[in-house]
Amino acid sequence: METQLVPARALPVVADVDVLVVGGGPAGVGAAFAARRAGASVLVIEQFNCLGGVATAGGHGHISVFCANGTDTRVVGGLADDIARRLVDGGYGFRNAHGVWFEVEGLKRILDDMAQAAGVRVLYYTQFCESLVEDERITGVVIQNKAGRQVVRARMVVDATGDGDVAASAGAPFEVGRADDGRCQPMTLMFTIGGVDWPTVERWRTSYQMTDVWLEAQRNGDMAPFQTTVMGFWWTPTRPDQVGVNFTHITHVDAVNADDLTFATMEGRRQAYQSIDVFRKYVRGMEGCYLVSTPNTVGIRESRRILGDLVLTDEDILTERTWTDSIGYGAFFIDIHHIDGPGMDHTVVRPPVGFKYQIPYRILVPRGVENLLTAGRCVSVTHRALGSLRVMAQCLLMGEAAGQAAAHALQEDVAPCHLDVPRLQAALQAEGGILTEDDIPV
Ligand SMILES: Cc1cc2nc3c(=O)[nH]c(=O)nc-3n(C[C@H](O)[C@H](O)[C@H](O)COP(=O)(O)OP(=O)(O)OC[C@H]3O[C@@H](n4cnc5c(N)ncnc54)[C@H](O)[C@@H]3O)c2cc1C
Repeated sequence: METQLVPARALPVVADVDVLVVGGGPAGVGAAFAARRAGASVLVIEQFNCLGGVATAGGHGHISVFCANGTDTRVVGGLADDIARRLVDGGYGFRNAHGVWFEVEGLKRILDDMAQAAGVRVLYYTQFCESLVEDERITGVVIQNKAGRQVVRARMVVDATGDGDVAASAGAPFEVGRADDGRCQPMTLMFTIGGVDWPTVERWRTSYQMTDVWLEAQRNGDMAPFQTTVMGFWWTPTRPDQVGVNFTHITHVDAVNADDLTFATMEGRRQAYQSIDVFRKYVRGMEGCYLVSTPNTVGIRESRRILGDLVLTDEDILTERTWTDSIGYGAFFIDIHHIDGPGMDHTVVRPPVGFKYQIPYRILVPRGVENLLTAGRCVSVTHRALGSLRVMAQCLLMGEAAGQAAAHALQEDVAPCHLDVPRLQAALQAEGGILTEDDIPV
């Protein structure tokens, strides 16, 4: 590719913080609030106009998973549980053993309020551009917003971008996609429809195999074969005639390529309109439905996975391996959407009732960069392990551990890889974290 040198110039240093959190999704929110609670000054850089990531800017009002598979034994506490409670108490949604369903505007408001109350500084409309690295330490990052390019200095950084932008820019090793060809899970543009008679849809759903309906629509030429399964209709009591729809599927696109992101968004919107025509024609209770909105961003299931000394595998997960540095539990199935076409991938694994597994601290610690932690979708896992670990309650708890760890590393004057892990675990437990069998509420 042709390159061009741009003039070097001095940039203004606009902030100097203990802990910089890049990305305000579930992982970034967990990291920011936890680091602040542990006494650190915190700045969050977020490209959109809200905290919450996929749960808000991505239009997906559903945080899962809180309980051991198929049971009501809660295995996630801490901030994730706190936020779920606030959503229900605020009247924005409802909760069951699997997760919390909510309207996304409610979560935006809750997270704004929490950030302001905690003294977490947030910069919306601001892009991370580049890590500034000296001797394997990030000294600061270059950001870009309406005021131009600027520098933020930080002693500890949490990469919660989902895509591992900070770590990749700092030179940390990473992998992308499935092992044989590097392809990632498809993207989905969520969309919200109004004019829905939800009780009728629910009755209709019990008497039809929905997959057959979409296949019939495709046979009749009413729908391109982009999907065979509605991954979820997300209904909330606060918007009785509205439903969020997880149905569009855009395959073979790269989350760190702007052309691909643009294509995925345009294609997702086209699929959303086509879906609405199909819903009107085929689904009882949706005859008069219409598009209310598509969200700020297409939803990304998978991109870079930043490698640490420990890489969590699907075998670790499915054998429910325990770890001395556990920071919490996951319990979701190996959820991999068809990488090359509609529906689910053949590599999906649905574990037995009661399934749960521990998440080790070491997957948050990247190789090669001393003062960096990762949290959320970009941690050190295999492609198949990510299929389970990527859900939001687990991203929140990983963020919470990363935020606490960042603050502790500063207090202990050590790199995150040399942290006093029992002290970190005690701090997480003190905040309601569920790290071991003994912490599980009876
Ligand atoms: C369509 C879809 C449906 C899903 N369904 C569910 C579900 O039902 N339940 C569930 O629990 N999970 C679900 N997931 C998974 C889950 O939403 C994600 O894996 C999770 O949100 C990842 O959290 P994160 O904080 O790592 O990343 P994200 O949620 O992606 O947040 C990353 C944040 O970083 C910001 N950011 C990224 N790069 C930059 C940059 N360079 N500069 C500034 N800001 C940046 C982004 O704007 C974003 O706010 C779904 C995911 C998708 C895509």
